[in-house]
Amino acid sequence: MPKYAEEILAAVTELQQHPTAEQVFLEMKREHPSIALGTVYKHLNGLAEEGLLLRITEQGSPDRYDRTERHDHLICSRCGKIADVHLPDIQSRIEHALGREILSYDLKIRYICPDCRKQEENNAEGGTQ
Ligand SMILES: [Zn+2]
Ligand SMILES: [Zn+2]
Repeated sequence: MPKYAEEILAAVTELQQHPTAEQVFLEMKREHPSIALGTVYKHLNGLAEEGLLLRITEQGSPDRYDRTERHDHLICSRCGKIADVHLPDIQSRIEHALGREILSYDLKIRYICPDCRKQEENNAEGGTQ
């Protein structure tokens, strides 16, 4: 694996914050001031195609990258923040329902995150100005 690809993979899996390509780029730039954004994109695409990274696409926001270890996502409908959730494996249940084996599933659960909910409550309390 090319040197950058290995470091990019490590950056995404270790940060565990679902970074965008831009955030990975900034992280890489600390060690490699001359690295180009295009290089980071190229490696992220390559790693996603090889199945070493997971790409999370969400309409209206930039793609994010993630480790491939089995877990699911809670996505805030307000701010777009992504949180990891570890649900008991539902693959066997899906397979049972379908009566056939599946390769994978992609689950995105949408909610209002605690921060946004708090903000909403504060606004409600504020009432009329
Ligand atoms: Zn939120
Ligand atoms: Zn995740």
